Amino acid sequence: MDRAAFPGSFDPITYGHLDIIRRASILVEKLFVVVAVNREKKYLFSSEERMSMVRELVKPWKNVEAVFCDTLIVEFVKERNIPVLIRGVRSVIDFAYEYELSMINRGLDTQVETVFMAADPAYFVLRSSSIKELASLGGDVSSMVPPLVAEALKVKYTEP
Ligand code: ADP
Repeated sequence: MDRAAFPGSFDPITYGHLDIIRRASILVEKLFVVVAVNREKKYLFSSEERMSMVRELVKPWKNVEAVFCDTLIVEFVKERNIPVLIRGVRSVIDFAYEYELSMINRGLDTQVETVFMAADPAYFVLRSSSIKELASLGGDVSSMVPPLVAEALKVKYTEP
């Protein structure tokens, strides 16, 4: 594969996301990690904060680039000639959701192909929402997110 996009909220980015990014970067020549905006979702971190953490953490991979998207993902990838969307799947519940989403995207653009990557067992329980809940209660999230993200969570939840 030539070019692919890995879209997500990354609110915040976790070791699970980074594992998918690492593995996908081996399969494709160029990987775009797309920090997306879903108007239905309420984010803890602003677009700028999510983008800045992702940008910093993908630096080790020379063929990975962080990009921001506040439009429809299918439109975004079409404009940039990116034919493949990568999504991570942790469970059958994830799969049901991801499968439907891929059908919607296929309906919007018949050319776009979604590739599902199975979560690594080491990370399959990691979920941004549970990590936020844990961090909000002062729990230790250091095995779930990189230090930069753990620090950002700490600041968020101790801010007056
Ligand atoms: P979205 O709001 O688009 O679902 P997320 O940031 O929650 O954005 O997730 C982006 C992608 O990463 C999704 O395909 C999701 O299934 C996948 N993902 C999230 N956590 C993990 C994990 N621990 N292991 C593998 N894939 C994951």
